[in-house]
Amino acid sequence: MANISYVNGLYCNIQEAKININDRGYHFGDAVYEVILYNNGVFYDYDGHIKRLFNSLKLINIKFHLSDQQLKIIIKNLFRLNRVNFGSIYIQVSRGVADRNHSYFGLKSKPILTMIVSKKKNNISDEIKGVKAITMVDNRWSRPDIKTTQLLPNVLAKTYANKKNAYEGIFIDHEGYVTEGSSSNIWIINKNNEILTREIDGKILSGITRNTISQFAKNNNFKMLEKKFTKDEMLNSREVFLTSASSFVTPIIEIDNIKIGNGIIGKTSIELRNLYFKKFN
Ligand code: PMP
Repeated sequence: MANISYVNGLYCNIQEAKININDRGYHFGDAVYEVILYNNGVFYDYDGHIKRLFNSLKLINIKFHLSDQQLKIIIKNLFRLNRVNFGSIYIQVSRGVADRNHSYFGLKSKPILTMIVSKKKNNISDEIKGVKAITMVDNRWSRPDIKTTQLLPNVLAKTYANKKNAYEGIFIDHEGYVTEGSSSNIWIINKNNEILTREIDGKILSGITRNTISQFAKNNNFKMLEKKFTKDEMLNSREVFLTSASSFVTPIIEIDNIKIGNGIIGKTSIELRNLYFKKFN
């Protein structure tokens, strides 16, 4: 277990880390976050994640006081102090502490930065496994493009999926199109061998892993389209996979009890997963 966390200027044992009960992140989910994977000195897609963090802060008008260089120093210190070789870092910035009031109009609170390192088992060379998923109505707010900590619909979706023995819950919009997973972006490879993932249309998070994989697909002459697809198209496709910083490229072999590609992991998913690891190792 990694013990040293960072709370608002202090490196401290996670058991002793304290957050003010009036933190707006705690009251309102008025906070943004990132998760970055770390493997032996290498951060996966570091610049993309930090850029998105600053963009999320801008989107909800949090005036953050640290530069990306200052953030990097803290992140590196945490991995050194925790002696973690493989794991991830969770970075959260809330609007700060204030008497409970919905509006932040005129508020002069100072943002609160917290970071937690998690030690993980390095599963990169493990045999690739396919997972099950189930679909559900996308009942989130209209700005899932902002990476806020306000994640209750995602929490309920993932829990429901796990209860049904599935790894991921896939959200479907009111027109029958797939938006994304509860904590991942969703991709299909259709009968024409086209790789499809939903365009950045404000209805999904602009996944950093998604962007990297999309670049690989384009550079390696795959037929790749950023275009939304329906639940039926997904169920009838050759391959389905999900992407996220913690799950990389993970094949989905069954959705709503229907086997995808006869329930066998597709070769394009494997190829893209291997390309992803090759980039960082
Ligand atoms: N969509 C949602 C809703 C997510 O929570 C995540 C994971 N943070 C993703 C997509 C994938 O994003 P990334 O590749 O940046 O981890």
